[in-house]
Amino acid sequence: MKAAALVGPGDVRVFEIAKPKPGPGELLVKIEACGLCSSELGMWNNPRFSSKQPVFFGHEASGVVVETGEGTETFRAGDRVTLFTDRGGYAEYIAVPEQWAVKLGDHIPFDWALGEPIGCAMNATARSGIEVGDTVALIGVGFMGGLILQGARLKGASRIIAVDTREESLELARKLGADEVIDARKDNAAERILDLTEGRGADVVIEATGHQAALDTATQAVRIRGRLIVFGYHQHGTRTIDMQIWNWKGLDVINAHERDPEAYMRGIRTGMRLLNSGQLLVEPLLSHYYPIDDIQEAFQAAMQKPHGFLKAVITF
Ligand SMILES: [Zn+2]
Repeated sequence: MKAAALVGPGDVRVFEIAKPKPGPGELLVKIEACGLCSSELGMWNNPRFSSKQPVFFGHEASGVVVETGEGTETFRAGDRVTLFTDRGGYAEYIAVPEQWAVKLGDHIPFDWALGEPIGCAMNATARSGIEVGDTVALIGVGFMGGLILQGARLKGASRIIAVDTREESLELARKLGADEVIDARKDNAAERILDLTEGRGADVVIEATGHQAALDTATQAVRIRGRLIVFGYHQHGTRTIDMQIWNWKGLDVINAHERDPEAYMRGIRTGMRLLNSGQLLVEPLLSHYYPIDDIQEAFQAAMQKPHGFLKAVITF
């Protein structure tokens, strides 16, 4: 079967490897879709990346159960599932313990059911502490930002102010129901948020970019005793913060990621329930599709972000 692995900086290749067999308690899943994650882009784009062995990866996979291992209880061949797996999702087949699979409704396309990022966004929504009636400012409306924007609405935010620097993201924010949209190329986003809140600042500011500038904007734009939610994945180097402002404002600062697999599974189940009930939209967040053979091209696109790019999905 085909499986993709990172072999060096900026170099993903497709290998022909043996199809796995499901062990006891495992499912063999034929993968239908696997999302390309910006954390992988960080690895792909790291000039210091080096490994003696190809690193098989991909962790946003969904597909169909084709075989069940001895002692499995919950799933049968033919079940449509999304998976929590730490690697190996860019492959035609994967064997996973059944507790890391969640069933999908028949009407949910595989490319919508990207378990890990959806679970991550639902967990961050839960940790954001958004209360009914809050004004929420979201900085960064990419794929993850688009999910948490919807999460904020579901939590009862009365007003959502979205900030980005790309036209397609601003358009996405409007489509998902942001009340105000700020183009940070044209306006000083922190000042605009303060203006829109009569100088108070937003109750909750969610930073979803992974960049220094957004942390600075969030620090300025959050109200006294507000909540600053760090949802961006800050991969490259250290960050600086104005600790005096954090102190003076008495902020609650939440690093809204969960790393415990059980917590991931909770978030994924929540996300799949919301997908099933139509309360969470994923379709508007997806933009580019590549067959596994063109995975290198998918990484290049994710890096260069051509016009309209939001999220790449590898298909099989
Ligand atoms: Zn991911």
